[in-house]
Amino acid sequence: MEFACSHVVCNLRSDEAASTGVSLIEQNYDNIVPAKEQEVPPPLPPRRLRKPRPTSLPLPPLPPLPTFQCPPTKLSLPPPVPPRLDKLEGESRLKANVNVVSLSIGNLVNISQASNMPIFQSPVKCGKCGAALSCLSSMKKNVWVCEFCGRENSVDDSGKRVFVGQRAGERSDDLYLPNQSDDDYQNLENTLVVFCVDISGSMSVTTEVTSSSGSPAYISRLQGIQDALQMALSSLLQHSPHRRVALVTFNDEVVIYGDGTGTPLTLRDWALVDYDHIWQQGVNYPIPHCIAETYHQLIKRVKELMEHGATCLGPAALASVALASRYPGSKVVLCTDGRANIGLGEMEQTSSLSSPHLTSYFYKQLALQAVESGVIVSVMTFEGTDCRLAEVGRMADTTGGRVNIVSIGTVATEIQSASMDNVLATGATLTLLASDGVYFPYMDESNHKLVTEIGNVTEGLEITFQFAVKKEFNTVFLQRKALPFQVQLIFKTRDQQRVTRIITVQRPVTICSRIWAGSLNMAVLGVHCAQLCASLTMEGRVGEAQRQLKVQQDLLKQISMQRPIQKEESVYGNWMETISSICDDINTESSGLSDEAAKVVYQMKRASSVSSIIDSNTAERQKKKTRKKKALVEGM
Ligand SMILES: [Zn+2]
Repeated sequence: MEFACSHVVCNLRSDEAASTGVSLIEQNYDNIVPAKEQEVPPPLPPRRLRKPRPTSLPLPPLPPLPTFQCPPTKLSLPPPVPPRLDKLEGESRLKANVNVVSLSIGNLVNISQASNMPIFQSPVKCGKCGAALSCLSSMKKNVWVCEFCGRENSVDDSGKRVFVGQRAGERSDDLYLPNQSDDDYQNLENTLVVFCVDISGSMSVTTEVTSSSGSPAYISRLQGIQDALQMALSSLLQHSPHRRVALVTFNDEVVIYGDGTGTPLTLRDWALVDYDHIWQQGVNYPIPHCIAETYHQLIKRVKELMEHGATCLGPAALASVALASRYPGSKVVLCTDGRANIGLGEMEQTSSLSSPHLTSYFYKQLALQAVESGVIVSVMTFEGTDCRLAEVGRMADTTGGRVNIVSIGTVATEIQSASMDNVLATGATLTLLASDGVYFPYMDESNHKLVTEIGNVTEGLEITFQFAVKKEFNTVFLQRKALPFQVQLIFKTRDQQRVTRIITVQRPVTICSRIWAGSLNMAVLGVHCAQLCASLTMEGRVGEAQRQLKVQQDLLKQISMQRPIQKEESVYGNWMETISSICDDINTESSGLSDEAAKVVYQMKRASSVSSIIDSNTAERQKKKTRKKKALVEGM
C-alpha cells in the first residue's frame, strides 16, 4: 500500500479540479490562522531527493496544523493578518488530486515470505461497513467503535483473542487462513492453454523476410503462426510438460481440435450465432491431456492448417473460453489478422443479425464470462491490418490478458509470452476502506468503501485509486490526528488455499497549501494517471481524460521545478504525452481508435511502475513521431 502523498490532503477534489481547471485551494482555512507571517510554517523541505520511490512509511514530521478557533469577533481588535499565500505557496499550489494510493496486488498475493506474519483464522468485522478489527482499533470492555464508520460493535471473547493478537502500532499486516480447505480442490498445475488461431483467407498475405542464408524469402502470416505455434508447443513441452494444451481454429467455421488426439468438432452455419450452443460444445469437449502426451498430435494438426474463407472470430473465442473454463487460471491466446465478419460478434454489419450495439454487448458478455471462469484471454493482431482491436481487445483488458500487435518477426515471442503461466492467484477480490467522509472519484461507488473484483492475479499487477474528502468533512478530519485506511484482499493461492490479507494503516491529515510538491511520489502518480486516462479514453470520456492529463502534466512541471526528476521518473511524463497525443487525435479527427492507438491505451490501463512494456512503447513512439498522425489514428 503506497501513497503518492505523505498526508491525506483534505481540500482537493480531483474531479472538480479537472473539470474547472482551476486551483481548489480553499483559502478560508489559511485565513483564519491567527498568526503572524513568521509563525506560518515554511513549505516542507525536500525529503526524497535520493529516493524517488520511497516506501510510504515512516511518515515525515509535519508542522502543526492551524487550530480551528473562531476568528476573533471583538470589534475593537483588528482582524487577523491573513498569511501571505502568494509568497508562501508560489509554485507549490496543487491543482491535481494527489490523494492516490497504489496497491501492488502481484506482491500482496505472494505469501511465501509471510512466514513471520501473524496468522489468524478469521477476521472480526464491523457489522456496518465490514472493516476488520486491527491495530488501529480500540476496545472498551467488549465494545469496539469502528474507526471507519463509527458503529459500536460488541466483540465476544474469541474476537478479543484476535484483537490481543494484533500487533500494536500504526500499521498491521495480517493473514487469515481458515482451517478447512475448499471442497472443490483442484491443482492449478492443471491449467489449460488454448491457442485460438485465425486461418481465414487473409492469412495467406505474405511478408518478405530474410532467410537463414541471407537471401529474401516470402512467408505468409499463417506460416508465421505455424512456426510460432510449433515453437510455443516445444517450449511448453520442455518447461511445463503437465500443462494441458488445446487448439481451436476459425475461418468460415470453428474447429475445436482439443489436444489433437480426438475427432475435431466443427461448428458452422446457425451454430455460429447460438451463444449457449457454442458454450455447451466447448464445455463438453473432452478435457485435453497434458502436452507431454499430446505434443506430436498437436504439431501434426498445426502443420496441416490451411487458410481460406471468412473470419468467425467471435464464436471461436467463445468456444475457446468455454473449453478453458474448466480450470481457473487457464489461458486463451487469440491470434487474428482481420475483422470478425461472420457469426456472433461480427463487425462488418452486412447481415441484419448484428448491430454495433450487439457486437459490443457480445464481447463484453464474453469477457465477463471469462472472468467468472477465471480464464485469461490475450489478443494479438497482425500489424497493418484493421481488426477493431478496441472492441476485441476488451476481452484481454477485462480478463487481465495481453493486447499486442505482432509481425511475422515477433509473433513467436508474443505467443510464448501470452501462454506463459504467470497466474499468481485466482478469484481475488479487493476491498478498500477509508473513513466515512472519504470517497473515490471515478469509481461507481460514492461510499467510503470500494469493492473490486480482480479475478486472476498475474505478475506485476498494480492497481491505483484516488480518493478525496467530502467537503462537509474537511473541518472534522483536520481535527483528527490521522485517518485510517484498510485493504482487504481475498484470494486463492496456487495451492488452492483461501487467504484473506488485511493491511491497515493510518495517514495524517493536512491541507494542500502545506504539501511540498517535490515530496510527492511520482511513480504512484504516474501509474495512476496512465491507468485512469487510459480507462477514460476507452470509455469514450476523452475530454475528461484530457483535463486529467493537463493537471497531471502541470503537476509534473511543478515537481520538476522543485527537485530533479530522476531518469526513471521521466517515463511517466512520456506516458502522459503519449495518451495526450492519442486523445488529441481522437478529438481532432473525430474518428475512433485505430488498432495501434487501442493497443497503447490497453497497455496503459495495466501500467505498473516496473513496466518494461511501456518503455518499449515509448521507444516505438519516438520512432514513429514523425508519422504519428497517420500511424495512431486511422479511420475505423
Ligand atoms: Zn464500520
